[in-house]
Amino acid sequence: MTTVDNTLSALPKKDMSHSDSIDADVKHQKRMAARKAVMDKKIAAATEERGVLILLKGNGKGKSSSAFGTMARCVGHGKKAAVVQFSKGRTETGEYKLFKDHNLIDWHVMGHGFTWETQDKTQDIAAAKQAWSVAEALLNNEQYEMLVFDEMSYMFKYGYLDVLPVVEALKKRPRHQHVIITGRTMATPLQDIADTISVVQDERHAFRLGVKAQQGIEY
Ligand code: ATP
Ligand code: MG
Repeated sequence: MTTVDNTLSALPKKDMSHSDSIDADVKHQKRMAARKAVMDKKIAAATEERGVLILLKGNGKGKSSSAFGTMARCVGHGKKAAVVQFSKGRTETGEYKLFKDHNLIDWHVMGHGFTWETQDKTQDIAAAKQAWSVAEALLNNEQYEMLVFDEMSYMFKYGYLDVLPVVEALKKRPRHQHVIITGRTMATPLQDIADTISVVQDERHAFRLGVKAQQGIEY
């Protein structure tokens, strides 16, 4: 079967003389120069260097993978990082297999699984507290340049942890330390002290098209 692509031939033909095209180039160059001037001014105004608190929230796919991607970026520069996974989910994710033995990464898998799977609140609270004690010690340790608290936000949503002691510990952490927290919903006190908040919006997900969770994509 042959398919004919009519897309280009269907477009109206526009005559462009040589001088029109030079005009367009000059206009483009002026626009880019103006944009560069604005960007240069903004870059010159951002002079501070310090650890940032990044929150990755929303119902779309890409929060945890973005956090681990940023951690790879950091570790690639020889900086030390740690992960605390507050909700275990799947045990052997690709990122865990890749990073667990890296000499600059400490990876702590806490929790017992998804809350609707365990259905045991007492056990979940104990796991949350244990995970927080690990996370709190990391926030006191200036050797770590980056901490990822994956799926931490659920601890506040379900009332397993109080958010205020977490806010206090985040405020007191070493000045150079970056922290990334992921989870669909974020507690307001965390948002109040965050430097960067990104919302990963769910527009479409393959799962709803009948595609199962696949190795290398979901885990
Ligand atoms: P990822 O780990 O792929 O970056 P995530 O951290 O943004 O995803 P979570 O909310 O932690 O997503 O959900 C965990 C799993 O659920 C992921 O494997 C993801 O593919 C899947 N998932 C995320 N968003 C949706 C969605 N809107 N519909 C169906 N499944 C989803
Ligand atoms: Mg996640």
